[in-house]
Amino acid sequence: MSEKIARILIIEDEDDVRESYQDMFEFFGYEVDSAPNGREGVVKVTNNDFDIVITDLNMPEMDGIEVLKVIKKNKPYIEVIVITGYATLENAIKAMKIGAYDYFTKPIDLEHVKIVLAKCVQSIKARKENEELKGLNRKLTELNELKDKFITITNHELRTPITVLKGYLELIDYFLEGKRNGDLDDALGVASETMAELVTIVEQMHDMTSLEIGKGKLQYIEIDFLKLIKTIYREMKIFFSKRNIDLNLDFKGPAVIVKGDINRLKRSIRELMQNALKFTAENGEVKVEYSVKEANKSILLKVIDSGIGIPIEKQNLIFEPFYEVQDAINHMTSKTEFMGGGIGLGLTLAKEIFESHEGALLVESEEKKGSTFIAVLPYERILSNNQ
Ligand code: ADP
Repeated sequence: MSEKIARILIIEDEDDVRESYQDMFEFFGYEVDSAPNGREGVVKVTNNDFDIVITDLNMPEMDGIEVLKVIKKNKPYIEVIVITGYATLENAIKAMKIGAYDYFTKPIDLEHVKIVLAKCVQSIKARKENEELKGLNRKLTELNELKDKFITITNHELRTPITVLKGYLELIDYFLEGKRNGDLDDALGVASETMAELVTIVEQMHDMTSLEIGKGKLQYIEIDFLKLIKTIYREMKIFFSKRNIDLNLDFKGPAVIVKGDINRLKRSIRELMQNALKFTAENGEVKVEYSVKEANKSILLKVIDSGIGIPIEKQNLIFEPFYEVQDAINHMTSKTEFMGGGIGLGLTLAKEIFESHEGALLVESEEKKGSTFIAVLPYERILSNNQ
């Protein structure tokens, strides 16, 4: 629509009447053009952009019904209002049946015209907004499909070279057994660590697309959950010690059996601990707290850090794929250093995995104070002491 409220074309064969309509609609704030007969009116509609056409029904040559038909055929989005005398009201009704927005009866009533036009403009606006939204939605769907396709292809193309590189790295390690010096050892260590990070990225990308399209079937087994946490704790402790971060385990409940996919649950818990490590500065603290709510047979696993925290308005966004609060360009590459790198998929996957086990993943955080990630999981049964 133009700067004015809307663009109107008046088609009316009587000159005086046409001019008076034009003055009146201009006075109401519309941008107005006019035509003295149906044929000229249709030409103007073809060559210009109008929002509303107001046409007399009773005209020689081409009458208002014909004008309406042509407009609805070629530019159906233009609203047409017809003007008729009381004597020919049945024509107005006919016009409504073939798509006219409304009709005015002669002599036209100013207040009525004002109200009908305002309603008509509202409906045009709503329709345009609706179309814009539909267009945006289509674009978003297309972009999403493109993103999935890109990830699937990249993932597929990365797997083979990574497998080959990994194999050769292991082979070099094997050949050098007994002949290594410090520098070589360091170089090989860095190469293997970087390779492990690459493998994680590829696995995350794979998991994301497969979970999203429902292919990532979970392999359910009975898991001694406390034992699982102790294993992850032992595996990760070294990375925390290296950065002088105090890692503590706090068990507040009995051991339980969880039915779930052990690899995926392990990956999710590691992800939470790795984030706590990455986003906590040297000499900070991280606590893993395990408790059991017997009333609703669920486990609460809290990973509590004393790190940088997450601004309140970003706390929902961090679960979105590829979202990172910090500028990804400034990331360090290591996954264990302070503010270390990632691709913003860890939490998306972890949340999806806990939810697919009928659980949940929540966050509580305060900037510069720290974050607590709370995983909730249902358990099968409590393990008795002698098991
Ligand atoms: P990434 O692998 O990039 O860390 P995640 O999905 O695991 O991706 O996390 C997304 C973002 O959420 C992180 O980049 C970080 O900005 C924020 N975040 C996650 N965990 C924490 C935490 N414990 N403390 C502060 N920020 C965090």
